[in-house]
Amino acid sequence: MSTTSTSPTASGRDASLPAPRPGLDLYDTTLRDGTQREGVSLSVDDKLRVARRMDELGVAYIEGGWPGANPKDTEFFARAADGQLQLANAELTAFGMTRGARTRAEDDPLLQSLVDARTEVICLVGKSWGYHVDEALGVPRETNLAMVRESIEYLTGLGKRVFFDAEHFFDGFARDGAYAREVVLTAAEAGAECVVLCDTNGGAMPWDVTEIVHGLVGELSCDVGLHFHDDGGCAVANSLLGVEAGAIHVQGTANGLGERCGNANIFTILADLQLKRQVPLVSGAQLERMTEISHTIAELCNQTTPSISPYVGHTAFSHKAGLHASALAKAPDMYNHIAPDEVGNRQRLVVSELAGRSNVVLKGKEFGLEVDDDQARAVLAEVKRRSAEGWSYEAADASFELLLRRVAGLLSSAEEPFRSLHYRVNVSGGDGEALPGDGPAEAILAVEVGGERKLGAGEGNGPVDALDHAFRNAVNGTWPQLDRISLSDFKVRILEATAGTDATTRVLVSSTDGTEVWDTVGVHPNIVEASWLALSDAYTHAILRVDWKA
Ligand SMILES: [Zn+2]
Repeated sequence: MSTTSTSPTASGRDASLPAPRPGLDLYDTTLRDGTQREGVSLSVDDKLRVARRMDELGVAYIEGGWPGANPKDTEFFARAADGQLQLANAELTAFGMTRGARTRAEDDPLLQSLVDARTEVICLVGKSWGYHVDEALGVPRETNLAMVRESIEYLTGLGKRVFFDAEHFFDGFARDGAYAREVVLTAAEAGAECVVLCDTNGGAMPWDVTEIVHGLVGELSCDVGLHFHDDGGCAVANSLLGVEAGAIHVQGTANGLGERCGNANIFTILADLQLKRQVPLVSGAQLERMTEISHTIAELCNQTTPSISPYVGHTAFSHKAGLHASALAKAPDMYNHIAPDEVGNRQRLVVSELAGRSNVVLKGKEFGLEVDDDQARAVLAEVKRRSAEGWSYEAADASFELLLRRVAGLLSSAEEPFRSLHYRVNVSGGDGEALPGDGPAEAILAVEVGGERKLGAGEGNGPVDALDHAFRNAVNGTWPQLDRISLSDFKVRILEATAGTDATTRVLVSSTDGTEVWDTVGVHPNIVEASWLALSDAYTHAILRVDWKA
């Protein structure tokens, strides 16, 4: 598979401009900066898994965390050094601070922990904004320079390769450029292999970045790297401009994880540079795994890849309009900026009441089904009838696939894996208005499987969770594939009553096997029934997809 885009407009750039310097490296800081995101907490095993996936993608460096600063990270490096992390592509790096203000480098316990982490590369962070030195660190500025210099000299003296993260560099440069420059020049002179200009507060703007990075690239005797946060929405743009200005080391995180608005998204940077700028960073085969790797890492972090994420998001190559659909059938590159399979994603067509028959036919193709005109007409009529009741399949591909198969006669009632008989749900202390997910709930549920009645009970947080447990208990062991599948998200929307209709509820459920995500929908005036409809589609899809894929 070629790594160049099929789109003629993919790189609308002036070819006379100089190319980025060769030897550009991507540096992944998911395991350190990325885990600052609220709600993300990785076990040591999960950290090892994330590192393996980023290595498979082909980044040059993986920062493992702060050895010595927290026990989990110390254990991570110990296990990595013990052979539990075999990296094929990346160099593992340890992260830590420059020496304390009142200790000698050789006596500093945290620097010693960095040495003990047994990585060849160490990334040291130090202050480069005078204001922070004065107020946060509370030491004379000369002392901060000595801390930077002596920490780097000590580690390089032990044969380590040292990168220097200049914290708050862009803010420091704006307020007190002379001192910020002095700090990074000191780091370079002390032997840092790369000085990384960090936009720690994330507010740097592209028009400043180009000039500042260009100036430093000319001034520093070592490599220049970049570390952007996305508070101004420019982390990826700033990274790309910094590369144009001569930086050859770019830091980012998987899916842009990181505190506040996140770090620069390393996946977006990788695809932008490789597909639009022809900078060879990873192999074509590695790039084709990027979508899968993005979703797996999100899962390990108990998150989902945001659906609008460039390249890897669920909707990154989705098309809704009927006009697009018929044109897409003829020439997919008319409406996609790259071929989705270059990054392991796929084109999706969204079927709504606005759709034409060509949407249904193309959508069928996505599922590997040949749908004729009569079938498409029947499916469309059913979609329109249901949309009047509040059903929407735009975010529920798996339910749409079931609807299409049922209406087109491709899934008979005899082939349905189970039939719902009845259920009852109690929400403790609820007043009947409780939303799914609210408070403890109990469910009892009966289904028929192969002519046999199966009964199960379950408890959970809210009715969706309780029904999920009850169903799994009822059919326990019937379909082993269900064990690997979990509900990753659900959304509830109350649809307003309109003339001639009562208020109704739409529930969307996302399920995952850890790699793929599929979405189902249920609509009913009763919120619990709407939840059950979405859940039963989720199970049916999970059970049958094994055969459909075969
Ligand atoms: Zn950061």
